[in-house]
Amino acid sequence: MLVAQPIEPQAPVIARVAVPTPLRRSFDYLLPHDLLIDNPELKPGSRLLVPFGNRELTAVLLEIDSHSSLDVNKLKTVIRILDKEPLIPAHLLDLWLWAAKYYQHPIGDALQTLMPAGLRGTAPARHKHRAMDKNKPTADHPYPAEQEQQLNADQQAACDQITTALGGYKGFLLDGVTGSGKTEVYLQAIAQTRAAGKQALVLVPEISLTPQTLARFQQRFDEPIAVLHSGLTPRQRLNAWLSASSGQAGIIIGTRSAVFTPMATPGLIIVDEEHDNSFKQQDGFRYSARDLAVMRASAEQIPVVLGSATPSLESLQNALTGRYTRLQLTERAGAASKPAFVLIDTQAQHMEQGFSGKLLEHITQHLRDGNQVLVFINRRGFAPVLQCGDCGWTAECKFCDARLTIHKSPPHLCCHHCERRHPIFRHCPDCGGKSMHPVGVGTERSEAFLQHCFPTTDVIRIDRDVTRKKDELERLLGKVQQGEPCILVGTQMLAKGHHFPKVTLVAVLEADSGLFSADFRGQEFMAQLLTQVAGRAGRAEQPGEVLIQTQHATHQSLQTLISKGYHALAEQLIQERQNTLMPPFTHLACIRAEAINSQAPLDFLMKTRALTEQLCDTLNLQTRIMINGPLPAPMEKRANRFRQQLLVRAPHRQDLQLLLGKLCLQLEGLTSQRQVRWSIDVDPQDMM
Ligand code: ADP
Ligand code: ZN
Ligand code: ZN
Repeated sequence: MLVAQPIEPQAPVIARVAVPTPLRRSFDYLLPHDLLIDNPELKPGSRLLVPFGNRELTAVLLEIDSHSSLDVNKLKTVIRILDKEPLIPAHLLDLWLWAAKYYQHPIGDALQTLMPAGLRGTAPARHKHRAMDKNKPTADHPYPAEQEQQLNADQQAACDQITTALGGYKGFLLDGVTGSGKTEVYLQAIAQTRAAGKQALVLVPEISLTPQTLARFQQRFDEPIAVLHSGLTPRQRLNAWLSASSGQAGIIIGTRSAVFTPMATPGLIIVDEEHDNSFKQQDGFRYSARDLAVMRASAEQIPVVLGSATPSLESLQNALTGRYTRLQLTERAGAASKPAFVLIDTQAQHMEQGFSGKLLEHITQHLRDGNQVLVFINRRGFAPVLQCGDCGWTAECKFCDARLTIHKSPPHLCCHHCERRHPIFRHCPDCGGKSMHPVGVGTERSEAFLQHCFPTTDVIRIDRDVTRKKDELERLLGKVQQGEPCILVGTQMLAKGHHFPKVTLVAVLEADSGLFSADFRGQEFMAQLLTQVAGRAGRAEQPGEVLIQTQHATHQSLQTLISKGYHALAEQLIQERQNTLMPPFTHLACIRAEAINSQAPLDFLMKTRALTEQLCDTLNLQTRIMINGPLPAPMEKRANRFRQQLLVRAPHRQDLQLLLGKLCLQLEGLTSQRQVRWSIDVDPQDMM
């Protein structure tokens, strides 16, 4: 980016700006001299009001230039300069422009990730109330105050390496088993960052931003903490953003988009649970907040810590090649020990509503000992299938290649892919039979069954249906913290980052869905999820036990995971990725197209493939780029649209970038693009 050049008095001054539109380009406007006289210090990152069509839009200044590739006499004129000081510091604007380019996304459309809603208009960049929002909705949280812990040797070594690196760029992978005290390392590294007068930015996955995480930070630091997540009102978000950018808040905690929060005195960035999928935006501007955090740290010359008990294969590989420094915590902190794993072969067991007799016995025992039990099922609703007992017909979604899930309260069928609802069939639409019955288990059914088996015990269900109600998640988690014996039943919401000291038994109802996934990351995700959910067991003095029910007890990946642990399986998976030339050994982009008929996306991607091949010829990349497809998406029809994808891979990132930049401009110009909705996903996470 260019900074304002000294400009001759009468020469035209061009403002190159990003405007909130879905076009892959910037726009030029004339900057009138009278506006410049009032704002001699005008710098990129300031907002300008500009005419656009018959509207007036708030744009962000990218650069000031004396030339335009367009006819200067035809340029429209900037109406007003909205900020005296740049709202977005230069290095952050650079990062964001880099990201828009890298992820092949129109800059104007990416603007809203950069700016809090409160500043997308013309309002001045000022706090919207007297004092800063101290983010104490959680003042009466149920968590006992936690003292600063005396770090153990591994923790101390990790903390020392991080704090020694303050003041320059260094990438760390904090690779520590669940309960090993990673958070304690963050807290103490942040304390030293603050002592040096610098700010710390902590990125967390959406769901782990529970009051518990926040409470731990708030209890430890007697100073304002800016919190940024999707549940804020525009005013709260604006205030948090401004207190971060002014330096008033020394610590900023936020989810994905918080990676773009300006800091007055950046000191340290932490990405907690770095393997978590929520760091990658899955639609629109498909950026990875984890990867941008590393880019940002290197631009701002500060250390970045990626922490996880189950690091992504990408980060592990970066640690192996020395790009990141690996900090290992191999033991649980304090008095806690690692839980013991047991596989239950459901083929060899009598099963009732998804539960084996063995599992029910273990639950009884743990409750009798006064402990808590966590039952994990990665599926909400009552049952995943409604089937006719006479002819085998199953209820499917009209709009998706998927079955309708049965829900009981209120009774209905629902497609979890397009949200379509349908009354429950009493008769089979195919044969007229009356024996319609649920097949399989979801959280609702397990909750009902467990309540039936353990009538005097509290059964607490935690999934997206229950927690839709405001503050319900906090209420339920608070109940668990009180420590009475209870059974928690829930989806992966339970797997993430929670610290339940009284949970001693974790049960996984079926471990099989990830074993045969069509997604090349399927096994990696399965291993992360199982390890994380298992990590909720035995986090305090009482030892934990993990029971995993499976129909594939001899599956090699599952065996490796159970007997040797996540890292042993990860090593095998890394080897497989190397053999198949998949990430992290290649860089991948997925071009998706969808339409209401099945032919249009196929035609579009055939054309895309031909264009890609042509570009490879012109750019001399034939041997450096691999193209697969078009192929139907693993779920070909979704929400009444047929979906195809084309995969483009390259061992070298720059080759892929060069190709994609040119390809996207060509695709924008294709007439057939009007019949399809297409998108490009660089470093895709979810291939479904
Ligand atoms: P992680 O983030 O790795 O899952 P946490 O930081 O949540 O682990 O730590 C798990 C538990 O261990 C917490 O209750 C924490 O207070 C405790 N803990 C952390 N470090 C120590 C330590 N050095 N000594 C004693 N207890 C510790
Ligand atoms: Zn039937
Ligand atoms: Zn559907």
